[in-house]
Amino acid sequence: MNGREEARGLTILSAMPAEAHRESILEHVRRHWGYDTLRPLQDEAINANLEGRDSLVVLPTGGGKSLCYQVPPLVHGGIDVVVSPLISLMKDQIDGLLACGYPAVALHSGMSPEDQAESERAIERGDARLLFAAPERLLTSRTRDLLRQCKPRSIVIDEAHCISHWGHDFRPEYRRLTELRRTLPDANWHAFTATATERVREDILRQLDLRDPVVLVGDCDRPNLTYRVIPRVSPKPQLLEAIRRHNEQAVIVYCISRKSTESIAEWLNQHGVDAAAYHAGLSASQRRRVQDRFMQERLHVVVATVAFGMGIDRSDVRCVVHMAMPKSIEHYQQESGRAGRDGLEAECVLLYSSADVMSWRRLMDHAAYDAGEAGAPEHQIELLEHMRRFCSSMQCRHRSLAAYFGQTFERDNCGACDICLDECKVIDDGVVVTQKILSCVARLHSRFGAAHVVDVLRGSNKEKIRSMRHDSLSVYGLLADTPAATLQSYIDQLCDLGALVRTSGDRPILQLASEAGEYLKGEREVSLRRPVAVSRSRAGRGEADWEGVDRELFDRLRSIRRELAEERGVPAYVIFGDQTLRGLAQRKPRSLGEMLEVKGVGQRKLEEFGAQFLAAIEA
Ligand code: ADP
Ligand code: ZN
Repeated sequence: MNGREEARGLTILSAMPAEAHRESILEHVRRHWGYDTLRPLQDEAINANLEGRDSLVVLPTGGGKSLCYQVPPLVHGGIDVVVSPLISLMKDQIDGLLACGYPAVALHSGMSPEDQAESERAIERGDARLLFAAPERLLTSRTRDLLRQCKPRSIVIDEAHCISHWGHDFRPEYRRLTELRRTLPDANWHAFTATATERVREDILRQLDLRDPVVLVGDCDRPNLTYRVIPRVSPKPQLLEAIRRHNEQAVIVYCISRKSTESIAEWLNQHGVDAAAYHAGLSASQRRRVQDRFMQERLHVVVATVAFGMGIDRSDVRCVVHMAMPKSIEHYQQESGRAGRDGLEAECVLLYSSADVMSWRRLMDHAAYDAGEAGAPEHQIELLEHMRRFCSSMQCRHRSLAAYFGQTFERDNCGACDICLDECKVIDDGVVVTQKILSCVARLHSRFGAAHVVDVLRGSNKEKIRSMRHDSLSVYGLLADTPAATLQSYIDQLCDLGALVRTSGDRPILQLASEAGEYLKGEREVSLRRPVAVSRSRAGRGEADWEGVDRELFDRLRSIRRELAEERGVPAYVIFGDQTLRGLAQRKPRSLGEMLEVKGVGQRKLEEFGAQFLAAIEA
């Protein structure tokens, strides 16, 4: 990758950190966060900032971007500004920072005038190291005056992909940020994002007009995530199965429509799972309630539209389920990326049907007509097509994602996707099954939808079949032993392979594709996959993360964490992350000194929570 970057004239700093800063950096990291080492590229990112260079840093979700901009002001002793797109994001970050004893303030419209005035005073006194604000707030003349006075060294643009059309959360306000250059001509600029496509990166560099920037692109792979793309045959039971693999753990379920979030949440409740729906149609207070319960670990399963996500920083999400295909790989990466931010094992399940592609096309076309366009824009269709290929491919999921983001994936078997775990059984008689399905479509003169084709092949006794005399066709009952849902999935797969075509419109019809002849004659290889149950005790990485951990103790520590969080009205992870709780439940420290050695225990948290956790461990 480096070679390519250089070829485009960008500078990559393989910079060794300035020795002068190194000890001071590690000292701050230890004291505030309880970490002994820096993650890949954190060193370089922190140093770019301290050296006053502009930078673009691309690190996957959970890669540790925040630390990169939180550390420098501790070292230089001034203040830096962080531009953040959402109030909830800012709030959670500040809660987390204050719990570590880190002086950070925000200015946003969700704060009372008194709190805003207090923030301003802290800035004027020079007491704050970071100021969080939304772009529009920074551009007001009042805030500009304040900035002129306190002279921040760096402007940090978080979620910088928001500046690009090619990103997944385009925000026009981000484009105006460069106006700040006039207010603060000497500040250096740092853009952070998890979205790594080259287009988005180039857009960020150009739009923000970064000057001779250090470009740091991390490995976008998330090795702790297990990806599964499963043919959607009976969505609700399939979802329940996934949730049951993560009992009492955080799960986010993404749906496309508001209505389905509600019906699925209700169905889950009827099946003994405490779940809540979340979408933009709910009132602000309803949404806040779901969010708060989820952040405080009183609710584990949220069934949501994509409105739920940005700003939800619960780091112990163990599973993200997509009930349908997202409309781009960027969206998929962003949404599935909310799993396992703590670096511990987590699972991403995508229930896929090729019909999803048609649904998206319809939605995109309608949106385009409403905007007076002839049809969905090319770039949307292209992104959708990439997503479809990802779902229908038989290539390792980690490898496919890496390739999409322009990176290579070295391992042959990732051990963490449905393909490498050998979970999608390719059936032996794929060629014959394909011939039967295509023959049926041919006998029906390409005039019926998938459901009818399935009924004929399974030899259904329905009135519609009898009245049209389809029970006398030679193909009638040819696949009577195959469950309807499985057959439906084979049809989907044949659409993906280009043997069948599904027409658009509200009542799609199955037709033979021009290449169908080759399949009918058996001249083409076909790999049809049958969905198989995923075993509940998944071997592999997941077990390693639990090695030596006393699980009962872990659960007890978790409930202490929940109580502490509730008392303080902060998200549970602000107290300690799961990784730290597992560390405590493994090493069982007997003194504060021993406790300080556990990763994630910093000085402030030790003082505040140490005694309570020690008492629980002793008991
Ligand atoms: P991102 O913003 O890139 O998604 P975060 O900054 O939220 O990621 O970091 C993800 C998790 O990793 C957090 O729990 C954070 O405290 C932790 N983390 C960050 N840097 C380190 C480090 N050097 N050592 C251990 N844990 C770290
Ligand atoms: Zn794999």
